[in-house]
Amino acid sequence: MIRIYKFGGASIQDADAIRRLGTLLAEGVARPRAMVVSAMGKTTNALEALLQATREPDEASYRRRLAEIRDGHLAVAEALFGPDSQVAAQLSRLVDELDAAHAAHREAPYPFHYDQTVGMGELLSTTLVAAWLNEIGVATHWCDARALIITDDRHQAANIDWAATRERIAGLATRADEILLTQGFIGATAGGAMTTLGREGSDFSAAILAEALDADELTIWKDVPGLFNADPRRFANARQIARLSYGEALEQTWQGAKVIHPRTLAPLQRRGIPLTVRSFLEPEAPPSTIGPEPGEGDRQPAFMLRDDQVLLDISIRDGSFVDEALMAEVLARLAEAGLHANLLDVEALRLRLVVDHRPEGLTPVLEALEGSFSVARQDGLVLLTVRHPDDVLLVSLDAGRTRLVERCNATTAQRLYLAAECPDTWQIPE
Ligand code: ADP
Ligand code: ASP
Ligand code: MG
Repeated sequence: MIRIYKFGGASIQDADAIRRLGTLLAEGVARPRAMVVSAMGKTTNALEALLQATREPDEASYRRRLAEIRDGHLAVAEALFGPDSQVAAQLSRLVDELDAAHAAHREAPYPFHYDQTVGMGELLSTTLVAAWLNEIGVATHWCDARALIITDDRHQAANIDWAATRERIAGLATRADEILLTQGFIGATAGGAMTTLGREGSDFSAAILAEALDADELTIWKDVPGLFNADPRRFANARQIARLSYGEALEQTWQGAKVIHPRTLAPLQRRGIPLTVRSFLEPEAPPSTIGPEPGEGDRQPAFMLRDDQVLLDISIRDGSFVDEALMAEVLARLAEAGLHANLLDVEALRLRLVVDHRPEGLTPVLEALEGSFSVARQDGLVLLTVRHPDDVLLVSLDAGRTRLVERCNATTAQRLYLAAECPDTWQIPE
């Protein structure tokens, strides 16, 4: 039985969490053939902030942030291995590499600079976790994902070269009694430049590995016992889904269920590898399983929230119709900026798009559109997407809220509301 495990940032956020992970693997569960690990806690956010700081004139904030990343990891190494360990020296060398990469790529295009630096979080975390597992007797072989996951050079959202990746993974010479441990989120071009697979991309890394190793099962360990019909942090009465199909999971994650990266499903579906979502906090709790067969999750309503949305209402200055050429031009600008239209609504004279509030992508798009188009922008919005809705449910959700845009097809309804009219914690109408 070939099992692949994936552990996210929350499961290794500090020394206690890494100890708990070690205990789980040593005694609690079957040993996996391979495991994929994300950066610790919120390290990727800290690395993104560090990258922003390199673009500020004053170096002080950059130095402070770099020191925080170094000290944070060294403190965990000290808690686990005591003072002046070999692991601490390794971590410190990686932070020096990070500093050198910032200096080397400061003038490079942003996506390339991003990938050479932000992907370091996973190299740091896996160094710590692999050392800890070996320390407690869980034999682990650390592998560099940059030698395994081969991609094109679309930085920040790299595409996998499946043939090259399968060949690299098949060529791995590791002992069957060792867990192969590698980084999520990162890969490299054939030329060896580090690439990343998109934020939250470690789930996808695990699926790539599962596919290439022809695994029997992928388990993603989360801080929730499984997949729910809505984010349990945001919906007071969210309920766990025991089973659903790959296709339904793909829709829900693509529409904004931020529990699994949407790219994770396709490689598993190709080989019919079941995906189990379990809790590292309650390993005994009944999990959720995603597989080829439909389950109750394919029929019942599910809710996805996207906060901090921006509505762009676009029309041509000379009053022309919204034709294919206009849509192609606008959508090409979005694609170039790495923005996704979370909702798209077309009328004769206007095109309405809803995107995430991401100034680094949005500002260039708005500047490019300015000449030929008239663009009205509205901020401070929430997009609610409901799978398998019914009329009664939608009427009840809309009550007391202004619907700025609404869309509905046979399986999915979308509502754009004013954030000021939405609660922090939602209630699913029963
Ligand atoms: P990871 O540790 O792998 O990065 P995440 O924090 O990205 O894990 O994902 C787990 C979180 O996803 C949960 O804490 C939960 O709040 C959130 N979440 C969002 N939508 C759902 C959903 N439909 N079902 C379960 N959890 C969800
Ligand atoms: N560390 C990366 C991120 O936070 C990838 C992941 O955790 O999945 O986005
Ligand atoms: Mg995550």
